Amino acid sequence: MPQIKAAVLRAFGAPLAIEEVTLRAPEAGEIEVTLDAVAICHSDISFAEGGWGGALPAVYGHEAAGRVSKLGAGVTGLAEGDFVVVTLIKPCGTCPSCGSGKPTICETPTIEPPKLTDSEGTALTAAMNCGAFAERVVVSASQVVRLPDDLPAESAALLACGVITGVGAVINAGRLRAGEDVVVIGAGGVGLNAIQGARIAGARRIVAVDMSEQKLAMACDFGATHGVLATSEAPWKDAMKALDGRGADVVAVTVGAIRAYDDAQRYLGWGGRMIMVGMPHTGAMAQYEPVVNAFMGSSMVGSKMGDVVISRDIPWMADLYRQGRLKLDELVSGRWRLDQINEAIADTKSGAARRNVILFNQDP
Ligand SMILES: [Zn+2]
Ligand SMILES: [Zn+2]
Repeated sequence: MPQIKAAVLRAFGAPLAIEEVTLRAPEAGEIEVTLDAVAICHSDISFAEGGWGGALPAVYGHEAAGRVSKLGAGVTGLAEGDFVVVTLIKPCGTCPSCGSGKPTICETPTIEPPKLTDSEGTALTAAMNCGAFAERVVVSASQVVRLPDDLPAESAALLACGVITGVGAVINAGRLRAGEDVVVIGAGGVGLNAIQGARIAGARRIVAVDMSEQKLAMACDFGATHGVLATSEAPWKDAMKALDGRGADVVAVTVGAIRAYDDAQRYLGWGGRMIMVGMPHTGAMAQYEPVVNAFMGSSMVGSKMGDVVISRDIPWMADLYRQGRLKLDELVSGRWRLDQINEAIADTKSGAARRNVILFNQDP
């Protein structure tokens, strides 16, 4: 079984340590992927801080791309050497959610033999069905999508989580129609993609709300038509001005800050849909005024991973990228080696970064 390098977390809040670990061979229906790139997502950081619990020691990382290096028994439609995006979405295919076309909320718990063991023989959690802060992963063949070879790995990796979550939130979950108005709260890795999704779907006006002037400028590069500083006393009033006082048809909350959730309802117009994408820590509570939803016919909808169907949506978004209609390269703000992962995480936590990417086969 291959010895690989992986970034291991042994205590919540501690730095990751690069260790030699053992990766088991793919079993029936699984494949091994040798990674070219993995991006750092805020979910990795929330897990590593203990925000959502989970078993330690663990290897995080779930936004990856690489080449198929081994096939388990019974895998069809993939060959060694294929370039694939690796996602955490592992649909069972038979539960009520999967059966109704919603694989991101598959109801079947994942039970699989441990994939990773450390040098003492202790099992490590391969978190979020991936464990991609490592040179290779073993995943279910259903978690990957094959893409053309010529896509840059660092850009393709982003299609595994941040991009599909943002674009899908607005188009799949928000059911945005051409001509509708959109507010996107947070212009980070997911927010910029919600903004791109709104542009691609033909939104009339796209208002970005963020704490940073610099991020609002970036939001305009991605398609926002207006920027509102979240640090102002009543940012929803500034957004209303941009929307002729009517409020938005779709409000996407792309950050986990509770204040963003408390305020989000105030941006909604008649019949508007608030899409809840950002994930606060377990136990955090927000406040809202139910009568507003009842009176205005507005709704609040949770969206996990952009409600995507990966075999449908990832090839679509890869084509949009190749046609110049979806920005991916511009989302990458830093490139790092695996042994620099703690610095890359610190940079992501500082809030200035869009996506930091770990590259395995080239010097960043
Ligand atoms: Zn993610
Ligand atoms: Zn299922």
